[in-house]
Amino acid sequence: MGKPLTLIDYIRLSTDFLARRGIESARLDAEVLLAYVLQQDRVYLYVHFDQPLEPSEVDAYRELIVQRGRRIPVAYLTGEKEFYSRAFRVEPGVLIPRPDTEILVERVVAWAHGRGGPLEIADIGTGSGAIAVTLALELPQAAVWATDVSDEALRVAAGNAERLGASGRVHFLHGPWLEPLDGRQFDAVVANPPYIPSAELERLAPEIRYEPRVALDGGQDGLAAYRVLVPGALKAVRPGGIAAVEVGDGQAETVAQMAERAGWQRVETVKDHAGIDRVVVMERGDG
Ligand code: SAM
Ligand code: GLN
Repeated sequence: MGKPLTLIDYIRLSTDFLARRGIESARLDAEVLLAYVLQQDRVYLYVHFDQPLEPSEVDAYRELIVQRGRRIPVAYLTGEKEFYSRAFRVEPGVLIPRPDTEILVERVVAWAHGRGGPLEIADIGTGSGAIAVTLALELPQAAVWATDVSDEALRVAAGNAERLGASGRVHFLHGPWLEPLDGRQFDAVVANPPYIPSAELERLAPEIRYEPRVALDGGQDGLAAYRVLVPGALKAVRPGGIAAVEVGDGQAETVAQMAERAGWQRVETVKDHAGIDRVVVMERGDG
């Protein structure tokens, strides 16, 4: 019998396996999944690289690596994803929050700091609750209403609000777009709606197939949600309030034009870290 395989051996074997399946983040994923099996952080792996694994750990790790090889997203395997430095629970019924969406949150937080005073915010299509819960935690003076058509998303989002300590200030409502708000008005309406053109969905990374279609499919041209949200939010926002929406690559100009036509003022776009126009912010005049 040779020497038992160590942590670093398992990481190398798994990295090769995942890389052969076309996964660019093979090494990172192999490490994240092993750390998850051991219930440790990644630093632990480097400190204990020469230790063997228990047979039960080998079995659990092998199973996760096989699933990752089928292109199941890492976040669905570990059940969580970091957003704005907090761990959000996710499961296959909800979209995995993306780092790009932190730009929208940052922009709304900056606006709220400039404005001061109590705030009421609506997050349309809340998914895991990433935006709604983060805004509630970053803005202690805010109350947030979060909507979705997916019961599963609302259940996961409510769990995240509870776990992260925002449950008293985030209220969940079921229904399409702005309808569950029932004509109420807010200081800000925010949304990261589905915006991928239907035909493009098939061409994206294989991982996307595991995410809910209702979270991603923006209709034929990807803009269906904005046709409802951009004019609709103008009625749901108080004078002097704002709306902020995330948009897909190449959509910002069209969405900004929709906003101007609908009667919004001071329409501006915010770039993401890759230099792509990612968020459109609009203000309702005081009149
Ligand atoms: N806000 C989350 C985030 O940023 O990670 C999730 C965004 S995901 C791109 C879009 C969300 O909108 C999904 O949770 C989906 O269920 C929801 N959705 C889709 N159609 C909707 C509709 N007609 N009304 C309300 N929500 C909708
Ligand atoms: N940013 C997501 C992606 O490209 C899309 C999210 C959305 O449709 N709002 O995978």
